[in-house]
Amino acid sequence: MRGLPDYHVHTYRCGHAGGASRDFVLRALELGLCEIALTDHIPLYFLAPEDRDPKLAMREDQLEGYLAEVRDLRDEFAGKIPVRLGLEADYAEGREDELARWLSRADWDLVLGSVHWVAGGWIDDPSSSPARFEREGTEALYDEYYRLVAKAAATGFFDVLTHFDLPKKHGHRPAARRNDAEERALAAARAAGCALEISSAGLRKKVGEAYPEERLLVRAVALGIPVTFSSDAHAPAEVGWGYDRTLALARAAGVKEFVTFERRRKIRRPLPPA
Ligand SMILES: [Zn+2]
Ligand SMILES: [Zn+2]
Repeated sequence: MRGLPDYHVHTYRCGHAGGASRDFVLRALELGLCEIALTDHIPLYFLAPEDRDPKLAMREDQLEGYLAEVRDLRDEFAGKIPVRLGLEADYAEGREDELARWLSRADWDLVLGSVHWVAGGWIDDPSSSPARFEREGTEALYDEYYRLVAKAAATGFFDVLTHFDLPKKHGHRPAARRNDAEERALAAARAAGCALEISSAGLRKKVGEAYPEERLLVRAVALGIPVTFSSDAHAPAEVGWGYDRTLALARAAGVKEFVTFERRRKIRRPLPPA
């Protein structure tokens, strides 16, 4: 895992993650990662104020504190490890103007684009989503999810698309592959210049598989879509977690390089030698 970045990390501000932000950076340094990006969740701008669960994302009044904290860590660790300012931003169809306003509030190094909100609810909520797959149909939810991923990519707001095949998180798999929907999402990512994250987070979930699965990663590589590495850490000990497996996945899929970001400029780097 030495020489790889961890580009998806959540601090206590998200309400469901823990640990001091500084400890995430120390862990990255200890592991020899090349960079770390803090990427807390954007406030839930697309929900009614009373529905903005503080256990899911930072509150609006926490943004300035977040920006200051990442700036301080960047300064403290300068010359040791680059600390990037990131944000995991939900795409919500029809709310693009509000998202643009949020994104204009800081000079981000990278913005992660996530689709968690699908057809009026969370696609990955362990308490409610199993019933949704049952009721609304696994195929339909997958197709709708990928339709939104394609729209998200096309906005141009995002540098990296997160957990590309997220609907599988709790083990729900469509009976028939969603090839058309997947291909449209991948084509949109390519057209927009979005990277995909190779995320170890799925290995910690019921599905027990990284995002994206190898078949989709192979397609992404064939299309020339760049990749980066992430853990979606919610605790310092999860930084760089599972990278032996995601690095092996990347090699098996034919990945030769990964990208990092500085002020939203993409930098290509070779995969570390085996
Ligand atoms: Zn996410
Ligand atoms: Zn996340």
